This record gives sequence, structure tokens and C-alpha cells, in this order.
Amino acid sequence: MLIDNHGRPINYLRLAVTDRCNLRCFYCMPEHGLNWLSRTELLSYEELLRISSLLVSMGVNKIRITGGEPFVRRDIMPLLSSLSALNGLDELTITTNGVLTAPYVNELKSLGIRSVNLSLDTLDASRFFAITRRDEFAAVMHTLEELLKHDIDVKINTVVMQGQNTQDILPLVELTRELPVSVRFIEEMPFNGDGHQFSGITWDHVRIMDEIRQYHPHITKAVDEPYSTSYNYNIPGHKGSVGVIAAYSRTFCGTCNRIRVTPTGVLKTCLYDDGVLNLRDMLRGGNTDQQVKQALLQAINNRAADGHEAERAAQSTASIHQSMAAIGG
Ligand code: SAM
Ligand code: SF4
Repeated sequence: MLIDNHGRPINYLRLAVTDRCNLRCFYCMPEHGLNWLSRTELLSYEELLRISSLLVSMGVNKIRITGGEPFVRRDIMPLLSSLSALNGLDELTITTNGVLTAPYVNELKSLGIRSVNLSLDTLDASRFFAITRRDEFAAVMHTLEELLKHDIDVKINTVVMQGQNTQDILPLVELTRELPVSVRFIEEMPFNGDGHQFSGITWDHVRIMDEIRQYHPHITKAVDEPYSTSYNYNIPGHKGSVGVIAAYSRTFCGTCNRIRVTPTGVLKTCLYDDGVLNLRDMLRGGNTDQQVKQALLQAINNRAADGHEAERAAQSTASIHQSMAAIGG
């Protein structure tokens, strides 16, 4: 098992397979997109597999594929298939915007993928367009239907933004009455590729829960999964559940069990650090598995205690100005 220098087990890898995306969520990237990475800058299929397999051999047993949008990468299904066969990997999951996902749901199910995070900030098509700058609401809703039809656990991720979608909080909670989905409201974070001015949040996890509690006074605290970043709640009579993720307030660092690998192969042991190891260079430099594992161990042994410490220790503020798509949200 991998344990960091603060005694936290590390068993969860978030692997970003591309920075590219078919949406332009304003809290994630500018309208014109990013300076997309070239194919040679991105980790190749073989490199993604090698890094994953090394980390699984060291104790990682859960991998989440993210990006950018994973389904814009052409070799995503072969990659998922190879990852699903890794010995020691108990859970393979995906975070997707759902635009291209529906046709693959059957195959995801047959690969043993039991849970998918679907990003959806509103149930209103025109607000969806305003937030994502693309007219794809129907496609995302179709993916939601397909996932539920195939009995895949769905967590809906909703970034809460003042002036944009706070009126969607209650309708999204209402969705959990009939659907067995978990809707998680996420505090907005600064990682938007400088797509818009970020000056902190007015809707934090406390305010979001106050809003929900006003209309659902009988809401009760659920038992959270170990290392969960969300605080989860049940509402009597609802098939699904709701949760909040204090991503900006950073209340969950004490039990953080996750590391990230960016689309260019940079290891981040905290979302707020600016990258602690360049795995791609190590792989392309001909290092052996043993050497890469050694470097990974060293990085995990040097982990910041929390996101605030990681942010202070970062050599530059570049990370904060990056898009979540270039980090792997
Ligand atoms: N494209 C996929 C999607 O949207 O689900 C996967 C990548 S996306 C970067 C992963 C998650 O990060 C999404 O749920 C998105 O809402 C969230 N995200 C992106 N930028 C964010 C920001 N500035 N603050 C909070 N969450 C953000
Ligand atoms: Fe694309 Fe996901 Fe970022 Fe939206 S949040 S622009 S869907 S990567």
C-alpha cells in the first residue's frame, strides 16, 4: 500500500487523457478553447498504460479517467479495455460531459465500469448553452438515460456559480426524487484557463446546503464513503441522494487519497501544486520501471499537508491560471 508522509493511504489515480474538449464551460476554459497540446506532447496509449500499471502495482486500486473530455480521444475505448484488465485494479470510472458518451454505454458496462460521473450544471437547455457555449443539452440528457438504463451508478457533478445556475440547485435536487442518482454540488475553483475573472466564491458548501435545507428540512446526513470528497445527504422519499464538494474551501484534505496525472504526464500529488514529477520525460528518457517507481515513491513522500500548503509551495502561480481540462478535474 502507498502511504504518504502524512500517513494518508494513496490508492486513487485521476488520469487525464486529453486537454481537448467539445464544450467550452466558462468556468473551465475560454470561449476560444486552449492552446491544445500536440499529439506528441500528450501521453500515448502505451505511456498511459505503463504509468497506470506501475501505480496499480504500487497499491493504486481505483482509476478515474478524465480530461478534457475523455471521449474526444480516439483510442479511449481500447485504453479503457486495457485498463479494465489490469490486475489489482478494483474500480475504473470516468468523468464525462456526456456529449459523445451515449453510444459507448453498453460497452462501458461490458468492461465492468460500474459508475460514471456526468457533469451537468443545469436542467435548462438555454442555461446549458450559456454555461457551456454549445447546444448539447439533449445529448447529455440522452447519456443520462442510457447510463441509468444500463444500471450504471451516476453521480451528477454540478458546479455552482453565482448569477449562472443557483436557480438550478433545487430542480437538480428534485431530480433525485425519482432517479437513483447522486447530485453533487461543487464549489467553483479558480482553474479556468483565465477564461473569466475569478475573485472567490459567494456560494460555498455551507450556503448551498442552507439553500437545500430550506426546502428539505428533513434532509439527513448519509454515511460518506471512506475518503469521499463529498458530504452526502439523503432526503426522505427520494431514490437518489445529494452531496456537496467543498473544492474551493478544501475541507477534505486530511483524508485525501488521490493523485493526478495530467495529459502531459505531470504528476500532481495535490490539485493545488504545480506538478511534482514529470513522468512523461522519465518514460521517454528510458528509465526503468524501478526508477520510475522510486521517483513516484519520493514524490508521495513529499506531499503537502493540504491544498493551502501546496498552493504556497508552488514555484509559480501558473497552476491557478491553468484550465481544469489541462489538469484533469
Ligand atoms: N470534460 C469532462 C467533464 O466535464 O465531466 C471531464 C473533465 S472536467 C475538467 C472534470 C470536472 O471538473 C467537471 O465536473 C467540471 O465541472 C469540473 N470543473 C472544471 N472546471 C472547474 C472549476 N473551475 N471549478 C470547479 N469545477 C470545475
Ligand atoms: Fe470540457 Fe469538462 Fe472543461 Fe466543460 S468542464 S470545458 S466539459 S473539460
